[in-house]
Amino acid sequence: MNPNYRLPGNDEGYGFGFLDEFAKREIRRVILKAISIPGYQTPYASREMPMGRGFGTGGLQLTLSMIGPEDTLKVIDQGSDDSVNAVNLRKFAELTCPNVATTEHTAEASLIQTRHRVPETALREDQVLNFQVPYPDPLVIVEPSEAKRKIMHGEGDYARLLTKLYEDLVKFDEITISHRYPTRINGHYVIDPSPIPRYDVPKLHQSRALLLFGAGREKKIYAVPPYTDAEPLVFDDVPFRTEDFCTADGQRRACARCGTTDSFLDELNLEDGSKAWQCSDNDYCNHQLARADAGEVTQ
Ligand SMILES: [Zn+2]
Repeated sequence: MNPNYRLPGNDEGYGFGFLDEFAKREIRRVILKAISIPGYQTPYASREMPMGRGFGTGGLQLTLSMIGPEDTLKVIDQGSDDSVNAVNLRKFAELTCPNVATTEHTAEASLIQTRHRVPETALREDQVLNFQVPYPDPLVIVEPSEAKRKIMHGEGDYARLLTKLYEDLVKFDEITISHRYPTRINGHYVIDPSPIPRYDVPKLHQSRALLLFGAGREKKIYAVPPYTDAEPLVFDDVPFRTEDFCTADGQRRACARCGTTDSFLDELNLEDGSKAWQCSDNDYCNHQLARADAGEVTQ
C-alpha cells in the first residue's frame, strides 16, 4: 500500500469498507454460490484495489465485503501479524472500516485474513478464515486451457493430476509438492488450497470455521464450508505426509522460543551459522510462552 494514500475522511460518498455497495453485494452473492458448491471456483468481477496485484487483493475483497462495525479482524502473513503484507492490509482495513476492531489474537477475531498459514489455534463456528490465493486452479500445471480445465473439474477428471503425483513418486520416491497441495473438497472438486504448507491441509477437513479463498488477479472465489470433507489427493498405498520437524534421530524439534512441540516451525539461520526453529504462528508462540511463564506447562 502506498504510505501516502489517504481517503477523504468526511466524504459521505465514501462507503464503509472501500468497495462500493454493488461490488460488495456481488461478492457476497458469489460467496453464497461458492459455499453452495464446495470447492467450485466461482468467477466474479474482481475490483481494482489501491495496491499491487499479488498483494492479497482477492482475500481483501472477501474481507471488505463481509466486514461490519461489530467485527474483529486479524490479518496474518506466514503466521505473523507483523510482516509488511499483514501490517499494510490491516492498516488499510482500519482506514476504510471506521470503528472495526483489529486484534493479533486468533481467539478474539471474528474474521481472519491469511496468507500462507492456517492459525494453530483451532477455529470456531463463529469465525471465518479468508485466504489470499495467487493461483486458484490446481489443474493449471497439467492443462493450459481454462475451458478444458473447467470440463475436467466438472467431470471430476483429475487423472492427469494424479499422473503428475505418480511421476513425482517414481522420480523422487515421494510427492514433492510442499505448498498448494491439491485437495479434494466434499468428494468432488479439487482445489488449490493457496500456498499453505502440507502441515495445514488436514486443518481444512471438517473445519468448524467457514474457509473462503479469494484470487483477485484470477477473479475466482471458492469455499470450504464448515464440516466439509477436505482430503489431500493421494494414492491408496502412499499415505499423505506432513512436515514432521524431526531431527535425524527422530526427535520432534521444539520451538526455540516457547518450547512447544506441536506447531509448524520456521527454520532460522543464526549469525553463528547454526540453525534454530521457531513457531511460525506468532500469536500461538506468545500464548504458549505466557502459559509456560505461568507454570501451566512443563518444558
Ligand atoms: Zn513458539
